[in-house]
Amino acid sequence: MKEFGYQRAADVSGALALLDADPDARFLGGGTNLVDLMKTGVERPGRLVDVRELPLDRIESTEDGGLRIGATVTNSDLAAHPDVRRNYPALTQAVLAGASGQLRNMATVGGNLLQRTRCGYFSDVSKPCNKRVPGSGCSAIEGEHHNHAILGASDHCVATHPSDMGVALTAFDAVVDYETVDGPGQLALTDFYLPVGDTPHRETALPPGALITGVTLPPAPVAANSRYRKVRERASYAFAIGSIAAALDVQDGVVRDVRLAFGAVASRPWRAHAAEQALTGGPVDAAAFAAAADAELAAARPLPHNGYKVTLMRNLVVAVLSELAEEAGR
Ligand SMILES: Cc1cc2nc3c(=O)[nH]c(=O)nc-3n(C[C@H](O)[C@H](O)[C@H](O)COP(=O)(O)OP(=O)(O)OC[C@H]3O[C@@H](n4cnc5c(N)ncnc54)[C@H](O)[C@@H]3O)c2cc1C
Ligand code: SF4
Repeated sequence: MKEFGYQRAADVSGALALLDADPDARFLGGGTNLVDLMKTGVERPGRLVDVRELPLDRIESTEDGGLRIGATVTNSDLAAHPDVRRNYPALTQAVLAGASGQLRNMATVGGNLLQRTRCGYFSDVSKPCNKRVPGSGCSAIEGEHHNHAILGASDHCVATHPSDMGVALTAFDAVVDYETVDGPGQLALTDFYLPVGDTPHRETALPPGALITGVTLPPAPVAANSRYRKVRERASYAFAIGSIAAALDVQDGVVRDVRLAFGAVASRPWRAHAAEQALTGGPVDAAAFAAAADAELAAARPLPHNGYKVTLMRNLVVAVLSELAEEAGR
């Protein structure tokens, strides 16, 4: 492992200045992803700027009834917060479906959004990988890809984004707040992750050296009737092979509002706009849910060994929306 320096930042401007002064420096959240990648040589920063002591560890209500979640809030504190549990239950369920209790106690909101793919070739420095070494090739396309992307991928990379939390945040229109040495900025989470294209190594639209300061969730009454369902190869302590965050509001037997986002199917949490559009104003039954899933999945381009994900996601849409519809009718 390459030697590295370590500094703890006391305030946001200090953290930004430290990163600005050293192009080889990286922010350190809980370290649960970055440090693992440093051990395997995938990441080789010369300096870590620890941001965990920054005053970004609060969850506060916004004036309009939404929530502002600080970037250093741990995954455990986020999942346990009473407002999150009550108003955005799918977010609590998504976070609790990820990793383990010990990891969630360390992992931060900012770090979770920026965690890297779990594609095995990305973490194996002996293998070609366009995301790790641009232009070197993609080992997964002709190799092991049973858990790779079916939506939004390219000939240059078919990796998926591993975050569970990000899927629920995407369904609820979260906005990422950040600071740079030139001032603050915001990015809707749907614009935060860049399309893969021929530059899979460029993953987000964050400006260089930007510090994520928090995530803002707008008020969403529909989110109170929401659910996260994760399918994985082991019952616990495993990444998703497919997941869904869904919320449903039904009035007089008609879908009044619906939110859908998919996980583990694309390079980013996938907001299912086509399915939402197909459902809104329509009937609340399994046939309509299946047709909406088909509308979204018409864009799927599965590889030889991951076509099962199309069926899996279709079944998840129907199952989870049916459960939410039943609960909305009670
Ligand atoms: C065994 C294991 C199982 C796991 N299972 C799951 C799972 O099922 N589901 C799931 O979603 N996740 C899972 N994870 C991943 C885990 O959720 C992430 O490692 C964690 O959320 C990353 O957060 P962190 O604070 O530790 O980030 P770090 O490792 O500290 O940082 C990650 C990246 O974010 C950057 N960064 C951190 N904070 C900021 C900031 N404020 N501003 C700008 N950049 C920042 C760092 O520079 C780094 O590039 C698992 C991890 C492990 C080790
Ligand atoms: S899928 Fe992406 S991360 Fe995996 S080997 Fe191909 S380029 Fe690398």
